Amino acid sequence: MSYPVRYYCPHCGAVVELEREGYLSDKSVTPYPLVGWEYAEPDEDYESADGVRLVCGEDIAGDSDGDAVNWTGERSDADDVVDPSRESPCGQELYLSFVRFVDGEEVEPEPERTHTTIAGGGPSGPRGTDGPRGPSGPSGFSR
Ligand SMILES: [Zn+2]
Repeated sequence: MSYPVRYYCPHCGAVVELEREGYLSDKSVTPYPLVGWEYAEPDEDYESADGVRLVCGEDIAGDSDGDAVNWTGERSDADDVVDPSRESPCGQELYLSFVRFVDGEEVEPEPERTHTTIAGGGPSGPRGTDGPRGPSGPSGFSR
């Protein structure tokens, strides 16, 4: 069971929908790869990688129904978009990082640069102890 989760490009704010399995947790979307993370291409089995490398504006067809990666043509007005006035989609790379666990401990990326949060009220959901329900809609009062 997968469904689209929305993110935005940290460079220009273009909004993308990505087909995701519900039980995985996202960490961040960044304009650079996190140290220690291994990224898959969006047409690979990225659910088993640490994250996925996307190119802003580049749709990727899914193997089931619909697109695995679908740039919506919308644009986020989030504060942390680097250059909201630039052309969009911008064609630059962005990196969606999943939460990683090593020996049951969540791995934090090296804090050499700030990272952005994911768009909207996406799946901020369960991190291990809350069961497998996953993001079932707008979060807010999930605790
Ligand atoms: Zn962009």
